[in-house]
Amino acid sequence: MCGVIGVSGIPDAARIAYLGLYALQHRGQESAGIVSVDAGGTARLHRAMGLVSDAFAEATLRDLPGDIAVGHTRYSTSGSTVLANAQPYLVNYHAGPLSVAHNGNLTNADELRDRLVRDGALFASSSDTEVLVHLIARSSAPTVEGQIRDALEQVDGAYSLVIGVGRTIYATVDSRGFRPLLVGRVGGGLVVASETCALDLVGASAVRELMPGDFVRIDDGEIVDLPRLTPRRVSRCIFELVYFSRPDSTIFGEPVNHVRRELGRQLARFHPALGADVVFSVPDSSNAMALGYSEVSGVKLEHGLIRNHYVGRTFTNPIQALRVQKVKIKFNPVRDVIEGRSVAVIDDSLVRGTTSKGLVEMIRDAGAREVHLRLASPPITGPCHYGIDTPTRAELIAANHSREEIRAYLGVDTLEYLTLDEMIDATGRRNEWCHACFSGDYPTPIQLTLGQMRHSSPPVTATA
Ligand code: AMP
Repeated sequence: MCGVIGVSGIPDAARIAYLGLYALQHRGQESAGIVSVDAGGTARLHRAMGLVSDAFAEATLRDLPGDIAVGHTRYSTSGSTVLANAQPYLVNYHAGPLSVAHNGNLTNADELRDRLVRDGALFASSSDTEVLVHLIARSSAPTVEGQIRDALEQVDGAYSLVIGVGRTIYATVDSRGFRPLLVGRVGGGLVVASETCALDLVGASAVRELMPGDFVRIDDGEIVDLPRLTPRRVSRCIFELVYFSRPDSTIFGEPVNHVRRELGRQLARFHPALGADVVFSVPDSSNAMALGYSEVSGVKLEHGLIRNHYVGRTFTNPIQALRVQKVKIKFNPVRDVIEGRSVAVIDDSLVRGTTSKGLVEMIRDAGAREVHLRLASPPITGPCHYGIDTPTRAELIAANHSREEIRAYLGVDTLEYLTLDEMIDATGRRNEWCHACFSGDYPTPIQLTLGQMRHSSPPVTATA
């Protein structure tokens, strides 16, 4: 998964992109990059591994002049963790510098890459996004827009894209609409971003959300609709609402906080933890859900776990030798809330079960009398092929174990979770979701075999 941003017609655009990427940091912590384009059409790129704040210093931003920018934060789902795969890509194109920032995952990238390589294309990275760049460059369509469209109609899977060509920005969302992309206005300029929380941070007022299949051109403060992409059945990623997006964002027309609250209410309606004295969340992703659960059940909401916010995703544990559980570095229980009580613990999702198992042990050690785990989504049983970094089926606990086996493994008194329908009902809309990771119902043909999904190409270690 990734965060993308495009800025057009705003002085010091790289700084706006930087701020926006800051708000999108949760969407990718592996690398960050910005391309800026100045008034003369010269493009400059800086990208680096790590967090946005690590990747950019004041001097780096000063070296990215111009009123146009394209930015990206990366979280790899295809391609390896190396600088060559960091985005945006910047290449020389006949119509000027071409930059691409991609959120999603192309499901037919390997097949297209093989064909391009046979035709003589040279790849600098192992990322699926570079395939798109080659397809654009090789298209025989007579216009830039035609070439981009030609490439988009050949790729399958998930893409919310910001593409810079010279001083023009193009933005598009695949026809199934897997990932969000929104447009806002700042003064006379426009900003395109993965979530509204980025528009808020840069002071942009929301203009519109790009709908599945939308393809737009942004120039001189104007947004122009181009002919839409070939329509397909809409399949927006429900996991964006359950876990991935920030609760202060509005995506797919839904305030994320509102849906999460309703997911918690659904748990209280259909899966109450009878006899629980208190309810608390696994912070922060489940906070709104625990609030919703408390609202409907009347069970008192407490802070039973405190999260250390300084633990990054790439944190390596220097005290592993002391056998300190990783989960202990991230969470600590509040004994005062837990001791002697029957507790309902709300989490958003179950993946490998390892975090939950560690948390349950911790909660028991803090003196809980009973632990009732409630999950605000069905357990994940299959990998995501559309951009979320889920493990292979072998590592997904619910793909291979019954609920009773999982309950015993986690060491909880009761374990319940929302059914697919109960989760979908919380969105208020029925037929437009991709829930493949929960249901196995994949909306596109999947050409890769399971287990090949991550790091499927040989790693490239070149630096940019
Ligand atoms: P586990 O107990 O190991 O199954 O992990 C479940 C926890 O991981 C939940 O609390 C989720 O908030 C979190 N989670 C779910 N999906 C992801 C993901 N794709 N990347 C990182 N964390 C996730």
